Amino acid sequence: MSKPSVLIVEDEPDIADLIRFHCEREGMDARAVGTGKVAIELVKREVPDLMILDLMLPDVGGIEVCRRVKQWPESREMPVVMVTAKGEETDIVAGLEIGADDYVVKPFSPRVLMARVRAVLRRRAELQETTLDNRLERLEGKLVIDPDRHVVAANGSPVDLTVTEFGILNHLAQRPGFVRTRDQIIAAVHGRNVVLSSRTIDVHVTALRKKLENLAWCVETVRGVGYRFAEAPTAAE
Ligand code: CA
Repeated sequence: MSKPSVLIVEDEPDIADLIRFHCEREGMDARAVGTGKVAIELVKREVPDLMILDLMLPDVGGIEVCRRVKQWPESREMPVVMVTAKGEETDIVAGLEIGADDYVVKPFSPRVLMARVRAVLRRRAELQETTLDNRLERLEGKLVIDPDRHVVAANGSPVDLTVTEFGILNHLAQRPGFVRTRDQIIAAVHGRNVVLSSRTIDVHVTALRKKLENLAWCVETVRGVGYRFAEAPTAAE
C-alpha cells in the first residue's frame, strides 16, 4: 500500500503540527490547513485517504466541511475523524449523522488519535474488500449474518431474531467499530414496516443482546451517542 494521505484541518498551529508530526511518524503523507474553506477546495481537487477535522474553525465550521465532503460522490467514502472540544456532544452526534467516522475530544493524547486513525483506515480497506459479498462474518466467524437469506448464526447455531433486531445487528455489523446514533439506526432499519423511536431502539437492543447470549458484548453502547459493533469485548471506560 502506498503512503496514506491525510488532510489535517485545524486552525491552532501547535495542534496541527502535533498531529502532522504523529501522522508522518506513522508513514503517512500529512498536510495541514487552517480553514474549512481551504480544506473543501483541496478535497475537491484531490480526495485524501483520510481527513482529521477540527470542528471549531474560524470560517466554515467542521460540521459544514463534513457535510459538504460527504455530499460529493468522489469524497463520500473518505473517512473523517473529528476533533472536538469537551461539551460539543451535540456536534459529535451531528457529525456522525452526516457521515463522520469517529472522533476524539480535546485535549486528546496523540496515541489515542493515531489509534483511531489507523483503525479507520484499516476498516475502510477491509470494507472495500468485502463490499461484493453480502454475507458478513464477524468475531472471527463466531457471528455470521446473511442479509439475503435473513439468517444469523452465533457460535454455529441459528439465532431467531425479529425483523427489527436483525436490521439493527446487520446495520451495526456492516461497519465494525463505527459508532451509529439511534437516529441513524432508525433510518437504516426504517422502511421495513417498522415504527421506531430512540427509546424503542434501546428495547430492541436489549432483546437482541439477550438472544446473542455470550456474544452480547458485540453490540456496544456508546454513552450519549448511540451504539457500535465491537470487534472485541472492551473494559469499562
Ligand atoms: Ca479550532
